[in-house]
Amino acid sequence: MQTRFAPSPTGYLHLGHAFSALTAFEQARAAHGTFLLRIEDTDRARVRPEYEAAIHEDLAWLGIRWETPVLRQSDHLSDYQAALDRLSDMGVTYPCHCTRADIQAALSAPQEGVQAGDGPVYPGTCRGRPMSGQKTGDAVRLDMDRALALLGDPARLGFDDSGPDHQGWHVLSPDWMRQRVGDLVLARKDIGAAAYHLSVVVDDARQGITDVVRGDDLFEATFIHRLLQALLGLPTPAYHHHRLIRDDTGKRLAKRDDARALRRYRAEGATPADIREMLGLG
Ligand code: GLU
Repeated sequence: MQTRFAPSPTGYLHLGHAFSALTAFEQARAAHGTFLLRIEDTDRARVRPEYEAAIHEDLAWLGIRWETPVLRQSDHLSDYQAALDRLSDMGVTYPCHCTRADIQAALSAPQEGVQAGDGPVYPGTCRGRPMSGQKTGDAVRLDMDRALALLGDPARLGFDDSGPDHQGWHVLSPDWMRQRVGDLVLARKDIGAAAYHLSVVVDDARQGITDVVRGDDLFEATFIHRLLQALLGLPTPAYHHHRLIRDDTGKRLAKRDDARALRRYRAEGATPADIREMLGLG
């Protein structure tokens, strides 16, 4: 078994990250497997070196050990570009110059179906533009209809989840993919690099990850990842989407919740055992 923890160095790690990292680390250890750390640092505007240093420090403090060298996504941008080129050669991408405001204006009504934090389902304004017409600053989107057509029967595409909330085998539904995901962004115009979904599938395959352990907030994103794996001919890991750590009001912890940053607890004298206790890990 090979698991990983893949934080973005855009803030300090909080209790939710600790739960994720400890769960992935302990699953690997129980199976005499390997645990890897991956730094997802493609979003240059938000990444800061002190956050990356703090990730190493906080994880080590928790007692977590990982294999080296650590993969940093910013060192592998050409690999994500190669994956994007492959998809483009397959005819399932198009360049898109729409701004968020354009997209909002093109949507007749506010959308209910919002996928994996990427905003509303794209109304398709730029669909059909050839990649040869891509201009500097254009984003690249997946043409969902074409992608689904290319894959034939999506019912053969699924993934296994061993997490508490979504335990079982999950199959891709074309209608759900069209209505809830739509033409997702594969490469972002603001950072000129592969978006999260593409880089994560490339790296999980490159690193030989057999079991992806991460929060249940990414459960829906896994359908996107399964689709991209099928298009790119990459293996599909098993998934374990774990419960989310929430604040007192029931909200999922976010990076801005500094009050729950691990270093804050540490500064106040908490021990790694206290953190485990708070997380219900005993
Ligand atoms: N980098 C993502 C995050 O910090 C997690 C990626 C993953 O586990 O797939 O939320």
